Amino acid sequence: MAIASVNPVNGRTVKEYEALTPAQAAEAVEAAQRAFLGWRRTSFAERAAPMRRAGAVLRDRATEFGRLMAMEMGKPVAAGEAEARKCATACDFYAENAERFLSREDAPTESRRSFVAFNPLGVVLAVMPWNYPFWQVFRFAAPGLMAGNAGVLKHASNVPGCALAIEEVFRDAGFPRDLFRTLLIGSDAVDAVIENPLVRAVTLTGSGPAGRKVAAKAGSVLKKTVLELGGSDAYLILEDADLEAAATACAKGRLINSGQSCIAAKRFIVVEPVRERFEALLVAAMKAGRFGDPFDRDTEYGPIARRDLRDDLHGQVRQSVEQGARLLLGGEVPEGEGAFYPATVLTDLRPGMPAHDEEIFGPVASVIGVRDEAEAIAVANASAFGLGGGVFTRDLARGERIAAEALECGAAFVNQPVVSDPRLPFGGVKESGYGRELSHFGIREFVNIKAVSIA
Ligand code: NDP
Repeated sequence: MAIASVNPVNGRTVKEYEALTPAQAAEAVEAAQRAFLGWRRTSFAERAAPMRRAGAVLRDRATEFGRLMAMEMGKPVAAGEAEARKCATACDFYAENAERFLSREDAPTESRRSFVAFNPLGVVLAVMPWNYPFWQVFRFAAPGLMAGNAGVLKHASNVPGCALAIEEVFRDAGFPRDLFRTLLIGSDAVDAVIENPLVRAVTLTGSGPAGRKVAAKAGSVLKKTVLELGGSDAYLILEDADLEAAATACAKGRLINSGQSCIAAKRFIVVEPVRERFEALLVAAMKAGRFGDPFDRDTEYGPIARRDLRDDLHGQVRQSVEQGARLLLGGEVPEGEGAFYPATVLTDLRPGMPAHDEEIFGPVASVIGVRDEAEAIAVANASAFGLGGGVFTRDLARGERIAAEALECGAAFVNQPVVSDPRLPFGGVKESGYGRELSHFGIREFVNIKAVSIA
């Protein structure tokens, strides 16, 4: 079976790759395991050196990687270059801090000495999505390899070139051969990799259905999973918000990665007294986003990654309108072969409508009017998801209280769109998944937290 890169700008196949046979995938896992047996005995300083070099390779080749992402999934080149450089910051962060995050912790008991040690697990399988084809992988691999693990990557089938380029980054950086391997396999070949006794744990970023299937399989063979699934992040716009700044930040948060981010701003929950004004400002800010060819350096948002996903997105918008939502901007499929979708704003959303209940993976903003703060919080938390969220208010104490205590999500930001940052934990609650990536929490997900006691 072939795995193909298809340019979302024109629907043309860029390159086809032969998928690995099950035997070849198993050989790659065995090779990763052999590399792990040596790697697990290395010091943090020995691991940090190639990790820093991986960061340097990413910075040196950012232009090339930006073009590769644009070609395979339509990310604007400037954003792809920034993504490659962000991956370098994660490499540096874990090169710098892994030893501190995983050094032994004294845990005094009646014994002569007792402490906690953090040992690597072995080969970890990463099932990753196409939306941040480099960042999603480095978010797992930088802490994972610094912890002493090996990694095998099953990347999304539309970004095989990125998957192979990432393997090359680690090879060129001087990591032991085979410590990080890309498996070019379809999703139907993932179960066999999970069943492989050498694979010790699984991390997945992607949709709920994919997360459920992979976690169920991993559970059946008692392997730990970390799941980072979708989101429908709610941003509360309160009556004391700076509405212009809020609308600008909300449009930026919605259009990021052409709307295809798990932590994109998706639902805008606005108190009635400021709703009309906010809608007008949001429409203007969404309209202002520069839309077009991802190879143009000025483009802010480009096509949707695949035509089928663009069609699904339009279906969600159409169905919401048929159920009574009002279209304030966009909502029309442009002519042509590309998977483009314009900035769209919907209002009057109610429960039962796709743009109210489901994850909307594209440049479509959903406005929901509410009476007051209490109703805004209730609507935000009524979602099945709980990844990120935001609140806009001039009263910072109010914002802090709502963010820290009221919103049911893994990241809540005040007066700014949610972003991922190696220094902060990243992950969700409810159907957005479980476990955490990044920070010291992320590196401790795939280690054996071992109690040692000496009488
Ligand atoms: P998927 O969740 O299907 O794909 C993510 C990864 O999981 C890919 O590597 C995919 O492989 C793999 N996968 C899918 N199904 C299985 C399975 N049964 N067993 C093992 N691996 C599997 O995302 P889609 O590309 O289909 O996008 C659909 C929707 O998912 C989007 O519209 C969006 O709502 C959401 N999504 C959320 C993301 C996030 O960051 N939270 C990222 C991407 C999508 P393969 O490509 O070979 O199918």
